[in-house]
Amino acid sequence: MTREQNKFISNERKLAFSDVYLVPQFSSINSRRSVNVTEEFTFKNGHSWEGTPIIASNMDYIGTLEMASSLQNFKICTAVSKFVSPEDWISHIESGLDMEYAFPTFGLDNKNYITDYLNHISDSTGHTARIIVLDVPNGYIDSFASLISDLKALMPDITIFAGNVVTPEGVELLANAGVDGVKLGIGSGSVCTTSIETGVGYPQLSAILDCADTAKNNSVVLISDGGISESGDLGKAFVAGTDFIMIGGILAGHTEGGAPTITENDTEYRLYYGMSSEEAMNTHYDGIAEYRTAEGISKLVKDKGPVANTIKQLLGGLRSSCTYLNCQNIAELTSKGQFIKI
Ligand code: 5GP
Repeated sequence: MTREQNKFISNERKLAFSDVYLVPQFSSINSRRSVNVTEEFTFKNGHSWEGTPIIASNMDYIGTLEMASSLQNFKICTAVSKFVSPEDWISHIESGLDMEYAFPTFGLDNKNYITDYLNHISDSTGHTARIIVLDVPNGYIDSFASLISDLKALMPDITIFAGNVVTPEGVELLANAGVDGVKLGIGSGSVCTTSIETGVGYPQLSAILDCADTAKNNSVVLISDGGISESGDLGKAFVAGTDFIMIGGILAGHTEGGAPTITENDTEYRLYYGMSSEEAMNTHYDGIAEYRTAEGISKLVKDKGPVANTIKQLLGGLRSSCTYLNCQNIAELTSKGQFIKI
């Protein structure tokens, strides 16, 4: 084996969403209206779920309870930021928030902290989280796998989506630890600078393509996280084989995110930042620790008003992808859709 062969995991070039287009097919679907964008899943733990398999990211000004209350009207999910208090959860649930579509999110927290947090919500409201998200930048560290198996032992009925990893080995690691869904994505987020700071990354389309079979063989669903910058990317991600898609930046700048508005030249903007950025560290911790650097940036985006407008546009695009590819629903997109490299 030459040194070059030894240094590369494969000879293929890996692809981002922007490296491909979907190919149109003869279609008997005459209207976007007849396309169904909801799906039904039965997870490894036997729990069934029905809804639109899109999840708002657990980022500041995106994964808010107000966002979840709006997105549930579209059966779209929200991974609610771990910085939201159980008391805020309780008051929103009492006002109609549906935990079927709102998922509490945690990081590498203490397992007792997580179970206390969840029990406090269910004891106070009678509503129990059915899906939780465990989100760490590097899902390969062994303390993360231990946290997952501890939580599975303590709360076997709760569906766990956890990540992030980007390789089949990473999917297997988390599946063996006990998750029901694996979140995929390192280096592809819109405010992510991990690939710049560390050189680590994996183009998102190839991450999905390379991990889909391993996920299926291990009976876990895949949640593609990061890199969706336009509605056409949704169809591409589903064709590649993801079950769910997490979106962040595309949902920034909406009323429900609650970011303060800034007016410049008569235009209103809202702030949006990566959760490993300096802004996030200053907001939630005491700034950046000396031994690390920020792996995220902040951006100002034009105020986009209520999120329903953006969702209608995203789902319209997804329905149209289905029409071009002669698919009645997302499952057919995944089984029949094909790409060209561009
Ligand atoms: P987007 O949809 O904006 O392209 O990607 C959203 C995802 O980017 C999030 O769900 C999360 O996985 C990732 N992300 C959020 N903030 C940061 C950050 O500060 N640094 C990095 N590396 N990734 C981030």
